[in-house]
Amino acid sequence: MTTENSTKLLVIGGGPGGYVAAIRAGQLGIPTTLVEGQSLGGTCLNIGCIPSKALIHAADAYDLAQRQSGAKGHLGIHVQAPRLELAETLKWKDGIVGKLTGGVGALLKKAGVQVVQGWAEIVDGKTVDVKRDDGSVQRLSCEHLLLAHGSVPVELPMLPFGGMDGAVISSTEALSLKAVPQHLVVVGAGYIGLELGTAWRKLGAAVTVVEARERVLPAYDDELTKPVARSLAKLGVRVLLNTQVTGPMDGAPGIRVRDASGKDADLAADVVLVAVGRKPRSAGLASLQLAMKGKAVQVDEQCRTSMRNVWAIGDLTGEPMLAHRGMAQGEMVAEVIAGHTRRFEPASIPAVCFTDPEVVAVGAAPGEVDAATHVTAMFPLSANGRAMTLDGTDGFIRVVARKDDHLIVGWQAVGHGVSELTSTFGHSIAMCERLEDTAGTIHAHPTLGEAVQEAALRALGHALHI
Ligand code: NAD
Repeated sequence: MTTENSTKLLVIGGGPGGYVAAIRAGQLGIPTTLVEGQSLGGTCLNIGCIPSKALIHAADAYDLAQRQSGAKGHLGIHVQAPRLELAETLKWKDGIVGKLTGGVGALLKKAGVQVVQGWAEIVDGKTVDVKRDDGSVQRLSCEHLLLAHGSVPVELPMLPFGGMDGAVISSTEALSLKAVPQHLVVVGAGYIGLELGTAWRKLGAAVTVVEARERVLPAYDDELTKPVARSLAKLGVRVLLNTQVTGPMDGAPGIRVRDASGKDADLAADVVLVAVGRKPRSAGLASLQLAMKGKAVQVDEQCRTSMRNVWAIGDLTGEPMLAHRGMAQGEMVAEVIAGHTRRFEPASIPAVCFTDPEVVAVGAAPGEVDAATHVTAMFPLSANGRAMTLDGTDGFIRVVARKDDHLIVGWQAVGHGVSELTSTFGHSIAMCERLEDTAGTIHAHPTLGEAVQEAALRALGHALHI
């Protein structure tokens, strides 16, 4: 049976981009319907950012307890052998996800958004059929169609997800393993591979990471990734660089790899996590014949696609595939539809990698600017008192600024807890701060923020604590 409804704005996808767009549209009085086939919150809340951060936190807590057990505790704390009840850890993590996805539902309701459960099939730029589990179909027509389909993990043809009797997994399954793997092989030393590989190592698995490029986190510069590489070595994570996967192992679960010299080796594994990137979920858009940029939907600075009144936001529009970018785009699209003059021209989009230690990049990196016209200065966390009291001094804060007027164009940091400095960095760039502004601001003592101030002071040639 088919029922029919019409609305002004129809949003496909209830992830961070889609749900924020719908909430803002509702606040602005735009009649809005949101279609979601799974649980509200999308990849980020259900199988991405949030559950991974919960797992990382639990793994850190267990690792700390392990490090204080027996005669090892250097903090003067001695505990008997800690025990992990993984089912309880996963239940705690799932509880956080449940609270947040439930919260999204409540926020949408408060904003007056109608949520339709089911899979949207696009008929044309103004018509969508929603197929429900019970087989019924609801036809929705709209004035504006917002595509917020998100992304899916990239599959390696020789190691398809679910292959080797279910041993080959994506990040989704890696967040809910029923038991700690004996040997987890991770393919890809990017965001996902290192965040989850480190967490499972701390939870007790032997972990080997296979990376095709010459260093871990190859998207960041060498200096930034060194403390992460040191920490992986200390944790006992085996890292094989310049190494390609060539296929599954013969006769036993595991993979076959080839190093830069052409030498083949077998890596036996009970779980293989493939984390070689994500791609826009662009399947199902063929009927619209939109202009594309590779697999991503091409959009302009207002997130308009090549079809009038069809908009696209978030991972569907390509890199950087970050939840906060999708949210900012979603809010903007709602305001443009409401008649506001808006453009998506962020001063910067911060990126955070929740490895151990954490890595942050906001704005331009030293390699992206002209060294003749820019100054770069770094302040080591080994000279910061707060870092010492947090027992994490491997890392630094780095600033990049113009030489002529001292305008700050970029911040990078690596270290324990530096993810929370992202707002400071983003704000500094958005407010067009100069080195003197950061250096002249009183930063509370003792905090990691003092290292931010000191990096600016160092760029000016007069750091105080180094
Ligand atoms: P990624 O692009 O960060 O890393 C993939 C890695 O796999 C790269 O280092 C690449 O060189 C390597 N690789 C590719 N093919 C390979 C092969 N055949 N053999 C060995 N290595 C290979 O991708 P990801 O970690 O899957 O993350 C995907 C997306 O999710 C990213 O766009 C990221 O923005 C997002 N994400 C963000 C966060 C965060 O913000 N903290 C966390 C996780 C994911």
